[in-house]
Formats: sequence, C-alpha cells, structure tokens
Amino acid sequence: MRPQILPALNYSQYSEEIINSKHTSQRRRLKAEKAVVDARVQTMVPALTNLQSIAKVGWRTMTSKALKGCYESSTKALGVLKDQILDDLERQGSVNIEKCPYCMLQSPSTWDHYFPQAHYPEFSIYHGNLVYVCSDCNHEKSDHYSEVQLEYLHPYFYGNVATVILFCKAHIRNGKLGFRFYSATADPAFAALAVIGQRHIVNLKLEIAFQSESSTVVSDFLSSIKEDFPQGISAEQLDRLVRKNYRMVESAYGPNAWEARLWHAIVSFAEFHDYVSVQLPLLPVRHRDGIDQIAPAPPN
Ligand SMILES: [Zn+2]
Repeated sequence: MRPQILPALNYSQYSEEIINSKHTSQRRRLKAEKAVVDARVQTMVPALTNLQSIAKVGWRTMTSKALKGCYESSTKALGVLKDQILDDLERQGSVNIEKCPYCMLQSPSTWDHYFPQAHYPEFSIYHGNLVYVCSDCNHEKSDHYSEVQLEYLHPYFYGNVATVILFCKAHIRNGKLGFRFYSATADPAFAALAVIGQRHIVNLKLEIAFQSESSTVVSDFLSSIKEDFPQGISAEQLDRLVRKNYRMVESAYGPNAWEARLWHAIVSFAEFHDYVSVQLPLLPVRHRDGIDQIAPAPPN
C-alpha cells in the first residue's frame, strides 16, 4: 500500500484527441455526450478526496459501449496517455513503476480502472481512474465496487502521503512466529481512511500474502545471521540490524509498505531475541546489564 500523487494531465485535451481518433459514428456519439461525461469526470476528485464513492448513472447501451471503446480499442492517443501517466509516476519515484501501489508485493503490469469500466464507462480514460497495478491485484479486484462506500484505497487519494495506516503485530504461537497485518490509526482525522484500508486488505486478500512473504523475509534474515554471526549475536546487535532493515525498507518503499511494517513490528516485539536464540542454538542470549556475557575465547 503506497500513496502516489495524481498525475497532472489535461483531461479535456487528451480526451478530445482520443475521441478524434475514433471512427465517424463513434466520434459523433462521443462528441454529443462529451459535456455530460466531462461534468461526471469533474465529480471524481472531490468525491475521492472526501473518501466517498460515486453513484452510477444509467448510460444508454450504445453510449456505454462507445465510452468503454475509448479504452478497450487501443489508439495512438490512448498509448500516449498511458505513457504520460507512467512518466509522471516515475518522476515521483521509480518505486511507482516497480511496485504495485495496492499491495507493494509484485511489479505492476496492468491498468486497473478504480471505478470499474463495466459500471462507470464514463471514467474509462480518465487518468484519475487509471491505477498501474500488478495482475494479481487487478484480477482480485475485478469489477468489485460499491456505490455506498469505497472498497479499496486509491493511491492518489490518501490525503496526507505520510500518514501511516498499515500496521503489523508479531506473536508467537506454539513456538511459531506469526504476524497480523491490519489497517488502523490512532488519529481520528484518518479513521475513515483506515476503515477503507482494512476493506482493501480483506478484498484483495493481502493479509495471507503479507504473512507468507513475511515468513520468507524472516527466515532469510535468520540464515544471514547464522552466516554473519557464527559465534552468536547480542541483543544489541540484533536490535541494530532490525532497525537498520526497517529504515532501509521504509525509505525505499514508504511507511505503508508491508515490509516496512513487518520490520517495525519486529523492532517492538520484545520476544524476538528469545525467538531467534531458539532458532539458532549457538546464540548466547546476552542481557543488557552485561553481567552474564559469555567470555570470548582467549588469544592463541
Ligand atoms: Zn498488487
């Protein structure tokens, strides 16, 4: 989960170009409806800024088909629009085209219509409705939507991009380290955003994906400790490494990336060192007062 900034593009200009690239009958139909469509597009930013969904309108079948056709049949003008969105996102940070903003797990490769085309054909080419995501998220989201409430976080509408709404808590059950991921906030100003965040996690089945990736990250981390600290690692060294990993991931992917939250959870998980010492039998647990530190081998 990662916020992005709505690309600064001129809708009335590119929509005109896309319409002009259509065959005569389609073009005529689209031009006749353009003022109504443009007015609808203008409602999207205020609604999403207030974290509200938008009610559908009943388009005539032929109009709906023509509107969807603006996106579905590829034209040079549509290709230019997609390139412009990607250029803008990349200028904001290369991470935007390397990681899907919905999950921060996979590489993006497809365009999601935040409001599905099947129900909101008038937004089919509006750049505020186009989100560059991974195929898993796009497939999972499909045509799911609600006219009453937002079902997913839209990366362009987080409000404050520094707001942390994804959290992770570590636990040990039956000797196994596990993690729970959820969206929440202690700040009432972001309560509505966190509620949508939780729907987002559930709808996209992200928790299972985050948990399974977390197991891999932790087991790789333990292997690297075994290799780098064959004589054992102190609580302080372990703490330093965990904090370093958190800072690295947080600065690369932002505070709402699952991996940043994972390290954040480990930083504040008091039993982590004990857990590690069970996993790595060589590891002496050293307490902070230093009294029971194990003496290193004497020099030869
Ligand atoms: Zn994704």
